[in-house]
Amino acid sequence: MAAMFNPLSFETLKTFMAEKGFVFVPSNTEATFERRNHNDDQLVVVVYSSCRSNGGTVRGCGKDAIRVALVADLKNGRRIGLAHARRVNRCGETADILERLCERMRDMYALANEMAKGPRCVCGAPRYVDTGRCVRKCA
Ligand SMILES: [Zn+2]
Repeated sequence: MAAMFNPLSFETLKTFMAEKGFVFVPSNTEATFERRNHNDDQLVVVVYSSCRSNGGTVRGCGKDAIRVALVADLKNGRRIGLAHARRVNRCGETADILERLCERMRDMYALANEMAKGPRCVCGAPRYVDTGRCVRKCA
């Protein structure tokens, strides 16, 4: 039996994210939450809520999923995607959804920690943990 789609109120999500130290970034399209890594503030974990800031959903029912990504805000103002976690489907109990979301956030934050602890490229940008390449692809 397929799990039931859970509309998960935006207020519930917002409260949960604030508890986890994420800052709410309102948007006309899709509201996001962000948390900068404490070792390197270029590295940011972003949670795409699949909700509009007013609480409406962006995508259709059942297609809604919360996504978690790690991005880098480079010194030149560009933002680039580094990695993303598996989608968090909005199915089942609210507590279970939030637990899965928390796991993904922890994974991305742990990756950011690893990158933050590693050596920087000469350009100042972090390097990928697996390949050692600069995230700006310059070296
Ligand atoms: Zn570089």
